[in-house]
Amino acid sequence: MFTIPPFAQLKAKVGFCTDADAQRSLRANHLNIDDLAALLSPEADKHLEAMAERSADITAQRFGKTTQIYAPLYVSSFCTNRCSYCGFAADNKIERRILSLEEAESEAMLLQQRGFNHILLVSGEAPAKLGVEYLEKLALLLRHRFAAISIEVQPLATEEYARLFAAGITSVAIYQETYDRKTYNKVHLGGMKSDFEFRLDTPARAAAGGMREVGIGTLLGLADWRTEGLALGLHLAWLRKNFWRTAITVSFPRLRPAAGEFEPLCTVTERDLSHLIFALRLFDPDVGIILSTREEARYRNGMIGLGPTRYSAGSCTAPGGYSDPEISGEQFAIGDHRSIQEVCAAIRQKGYDPVRKDWDAGFQLH
Ligand code: SF4
Repeated sequence: MFTIPPFAQLKAKVGFCTDADAQRSLRANHLNIDDLAALLSPEADKHLEAMAERSADITAQRFGKTTQIYAPLYVSSFCTNRCSYCGFAADNKIERRILSLEEAESEAMLLQQRGFNHILLVSGEAPAKLGVEYLEKLALLLRHRFAAISIEVQPLATEEYARLFAAGITSVAIYQETYDRKTYNKVHLGGMKSDFEFRLDTPARAAAGGMREVGIGTLLGLADWRTEGLALGLHLAWLRKNFWRTAITVSFPRLRPAAGEFEPLCTVTERDLSHLIFALRLFDPDVGIILSTREEARYRNGMIGLGPTRYSAGSCTAPGGYSDPEISGEQFAIGDHRSIQEVCAAIRQKGYDPVRKDWDAGFQLH
């Protein structure tokens, strides 16, 4: 089982790094966790340009000049948790909705018509309303129409992940939000999600259940981003060691305005986010890095090829929002409102290929 050292200890580790450490780590070929700490440290700030160059080179070597494209499909806004930063939190008075299987299928087909081949099914965490059975049925309806189906839902048991994998779901995203227990307890006020350990162990259960890919991440704006980056690196390295057959992705969503009007507990600038992306890319050349529509078009355009490997596009964060753009009850406000065509055009303009399909179930061993 993965355990995380105290956040204060990790923070001190980052804080003690010197400029010489940062320079040495920037030149190193196989980076260890000490190198990651050095590259995340304030001493590395002045080397950001060199980190960006190295990150771009490694990304092109490992992934080619490509950026994968996907869209989230929100299927339910019901949630029993009370995460103070989220529009779907149980306390918020929003219009809630769960899509019937027919409605979810027709939303998915709309995305397919728009050109998406990879979709991410997203829901709040309300297992009594939306459980494994719903996800299994939906996956069976969609599996032959999409190249890849991922989920971002409540944490499940290993056997449940295995069942969903058999139904055609190949990837699970489950973010710890923050690796700082103190902050975690402060912002997760109630519901299953307030169990830090259970959530921390979820990526391992998803991998043990046979998922082809597991996504981990932290929600930026809750605790010190440099320390979150180091904690994420530790989690990533542990998963690599214990589940070497599972592909791993990382994501660093920054807090966005949402119902409940939570104010970020700390500031994370675009420069900080870039720093985090470059450091993780240097630390793990093969990790997939996701940059979602939480970020603005200007910033996402600037980051093409520099480290991220996967972009969402044309996103709506309210269930039913693709069929009815006027629908209310979104999880958070997005920052990039462009269509898939516009995002793909921006990627091509930079000399990269937008990839709508990078996987086929035919490759899968059953
Ligand atoms: S972050 Fe997820 S678990 Fe927390 S309130 Fe929002 S939807 Fe529910």
